[in-house]
Amino acid sequence: LKSPYAGGHLEVIVGPMFSGKSEELIRRVTRAVIARQRVAVFKPALDDRYHVAHVASHAGRSIEAVAVPDVAGIRAHLSGQGELLSATPEGVDVVGIDEAQFFGPELIPLVLELADAGVRVILAGLDMDFRAEPFGCIPELLARAESVEKLTAICTVCGAPATRSQRLIGGQPARFDDPVVLVGAQESYEARCRVHHEVEK
Ligand code: ADP
Repeated sequence: LKSPYAGGHLEVIVGPMFSGKSEELIRRVTRAVIARQRVAVFKPALDDRYHVAHVASHAGRSIEAVAVPDVAGIRAHLSGQGELLSATPEGVDVVGIDEAQFFGPELIPLVLELADAGVRVILAGLDMDFRAEPFGCIPELLARAESVEKLTAICTVCGAPATRSQRLIGGQPARFDDPVVLVGAQESYEARCRVHHEVEK
């Protein structure tokens, strides 16, 4: 059951929305649990897409996770101060983090510290925002990872592999400068290829 890496390491799973990042994180974590490894999974608390304390894929599979408001919440939980403690996380073998793009830059030193301490860290997140710009702390994490998997979805227009997330507001492509949070707007996202991804200037 030895990992191909001698000690801890960092694995990053990226791609657009609907590319199966959560599915892949769930697959890896499930295998670690089968191998009787001690696992802790986190996600940002602002994402309550399905359930506050689960990582769920669009296809319906889910695993338990701890929703935390920020990186300090992950740190507190791992050092045994978390209020949502369901199992003693001391000496975890594997830490999984979904929607990693929503955490601040403090995520980088935390995951490097964990990997240096022998933990297998598995991150899943968007590599690009709806404008196809690199997203938050993900570019640096990609650079520092031992392993990177870039997944594709299916373009909703042509069926080609999709690398980008199309943001639609009232059915129309969002503008570059549209605020990230739009109150009261009919907002949706679709997977798109490079050709069919549109951003109004
Ligand atoms: P992510 O975490 O990357 O958003 P999920 O793991 O939540 O992805 O969901 C992936 C699942 O979404 C696929 O297995 C498929 O069932 C479903 N899906 C819905 N729309 C699409 C699409 N346009 N391309 C690919 N998969 C899609």
